[in-house]
Amino acid sequence: MGINLSEKVAIVTGSRRGIGKAIAEELAKAKAKIIITATSQEGCEKIAAEISEKYQVETLPIKADVTNFQEVESLVNQVIAKFGKIDILINNAGITKDNLMLRMTPEEWLAVINTNLTSVFYFTKLVSRFMLKQKYGRIINISSVIGQMGNAGQSNYAAAKAGILGLTKSVAKEFGKKGITCNAIAPGFIETDMIESLSKEYVDNLIKMLAIPRLGITQDVANLALFLASDFSSYITGQVINVDGGMIM
Ligand code: NDP
Repeated sequence: MGINLSEKVAIVTGSRRGIGKAIAEELAKAKAKIIITATSQEGCEKIAAEISEKYQVETLPIKADVTNFQEVESLVNQVIAKFGKIDILINNAGITKDNLMLRMTPEEWLAVINTNLTSVFYFTKLVSRFMLKQKYGRIINISSVIGQMGNAGQSNYAAAKAGILGLTKSVAKEFGKKGITCNAIAPGFIETDMIESLSKEYVDNLIKMLAIPRLGITQDVANLALFLASDFSSYITGQVINVDGGMIM
């Protein structure tokens, strides 16, 4: 498609591994400057150095707990101090803390809501200020099929991921006139650390239900993120696009 992001600065939350790392690499291949952020400075530095060397782009590693407003604010300020702008925001960081409703603790509920949903509000609020000034922005939120269909034992995760969809559409409506688009990607089951604990039997049964009978890989999600981060998607906003092998249709 020939996407060139060499003038763009992109923050990818949770980009030390999994889907976030694959998105960071895809944007780096298109020559964007990438902010690598996750929970450990050492971990971010390792991946930032790897991506810089492999794709010959500038990277900036910054540790930030996405549930901590002050840390997110400090990250955004550091990015502005170094690059002067932020063009692309990928809200990807997420966790699971599964439990059946009767057993789910308030801590499990809040940890998932804060990490997977409140963080999206923090980043969007702080970054959109700069996007509004330049009248340009691409915000991409990583939701999940679970936010659309629910899942026993994941009411916290499903609520957070469904919440992202409402936030995405509202932000799209608020900022559409200002050159900022906001879309959500809803992946199905993607091979990362997050789904490692699923039993082989569960995964085998799941695959049988898919139109494309395999688990997704991180590249499947990263390909769409690149498109949504580019100017090829400039008339697409407020959408939820599934990358799920036809699980939901
Ligand atoms: P991983 O567990 O592989 O990676 C999660 C990333 O999020 C890590 O880099 C982690 O940081 C970061 N993170 C978690 N908590 C925080 C926090 N408090 N502050 C900062 N960073 C944090 O997950 P995936 O790559 O599988 O998932 C990425 C996103 O995609 C998530 O939002 C997930 O819900 C969603 N998704 C995943 C699916 C799947 O099947 N894998 C399916 C549908 C959606 P660190 O590396 O430092 O631990």
